[in-house]
Amino acid sequence: MASKTLDELLAEGVRGQRVFVRADLNVPLDGGRIGDDTRIRAATGSLRRLLAGGARVILASHLGRPKGERKPELSLAPIAERLGELLERKVAFCPEVVGPLAQAAADALGDGELLLLENVRFEPGETRNDDALAKGFAELADVYVNDAFGTAHRAHASTVGVARLVSRRAAGDLLRAELEHLKVVREPERPLLCLLGGAKVSDKLAVLEALAPHADVLAIGGAMAYTFLAARGEPTGTSLVEPDRLDDARRVEEAAAKAGRKLLLPTDHVVVEKLEPDAPSEIRAQVPEGLMGVDIGPETAATFAAEAAAARTIFWNGPMGVFEMDAFAKGTEAVANAVASSAARSVVGGGDSVAAINRLALGDRIGHLSTGGGASLEFVQGKTLPGVAALED
Ligand code: ADP
Ligand code: MG
Repeated sequence: MASKTLDELLAEGVRGQRVFVRADLNVPLDGGRIGDDTRIRAATGSLRRLLAGGARVILASHLGRPKGERKPELSLAPIAERLGELLERKVAFCPEVVGPLAQAAADALGDGELLLLENVRFEPGETRNDDALAKGFAELADVYVNDAFGTAHRAHASTVGVARLVSRRAAGDLLRAELEHLKVVREPERPLLCLLGGAKVSDKLAVLEALAPHADVLAIGGAMAYTFLAARGEPTGTSLVEPDRLDDARRVEEAAAKAGRKLLLPTDHVVVEKLEPDAPSEIRAQVPEGLMGVDIGPETAATFAAEAAAARTIFWNGPMGVFEMDAFAKGTEAVANAVASSAARSVVGGGDSVAAINRLALGDRIGHLSTGGGASLEFVQGKTLPGVAALED
């Protein structure tokens, strides 16, 4: 069963209703200041529409990993301020998550007004999906809206518990857009190119296993390529290899071969002696002993770019090298430009991958930048996201 959309909810009417919205305001903090407000901006779409419809919005989010403790540096108070600037209206803030204070603050809301609750993960019951906490949220709400795609793969009190207790519920615009874009990867126009990179095979093993037989071409770069190369018996020098994942890498290769799919690994590398921003580097077809692969080389970048040009659908997760250092960002840059130039429908997921795209100011030329790394990986694997399932009838 599908979940209700915000359009449908607004058509039914929300004026005077207390609408509990779970958003993803988990922004990077830089010494107590908001580093990048992309997630706050993204959340304003659904909020504006609900407020314009006369809803009394009670907004909840997590921030960082306070692990069930009140950590002042992870308070949502600065986010209330930023949100107020973006929405150009007053945003009330409640220093509690549930309970009498939250209840009173919610009761004080007028139509079209908004209240932000404190970090839901200050409550130990949040990540345990505790019943009492879910009831506390439900007591604040006539309607539940989930717009937090980034946590939809977690069954928490504010994503799943409360949803089950509030019979009027809907998916927010951001959540719905994410699902629509990512569905294209599950049911692609072919050829489908999946570009995977980043740090570890172990982080992304499930998605590698799911995509190897599904993608027409699976192109692997980043540090994880070295575990695959090591599994093929190629030299990898001091590159990041996970020795206990060699069998897994072989299994992924076999799955691709069995399904008649193409799996591409780098054929050249940027190598250095030490991982430092100014380290002298060379391009090598194989990583020599004592050296470390820190980026895909130009030949590999050209091969991956040609696949991007030929693809009809592209999914990309994980940078192709240590892109945080300019000298080793060329491979990621080349791939980003190729994805942006391709006529294919493209989806990029993953915190670092999206950061790389934004740094290159290519965001406007990518079909969709997913706000949820982990959730997007689980969804493209074909998994049901508990936060989405809980919205269904
Ligand atoms: P995402 O957040 O997009 O899912 P990951 O978190 O999996 O991506 O990986 C990003 C990290 O991988 C970056 O910090 C980057 O420096 C690192 N990385 C990429 N290639 C290499 C490499 N060859 N050696 C070491 N680290 C790498
Ligand atoms: Mg990351």
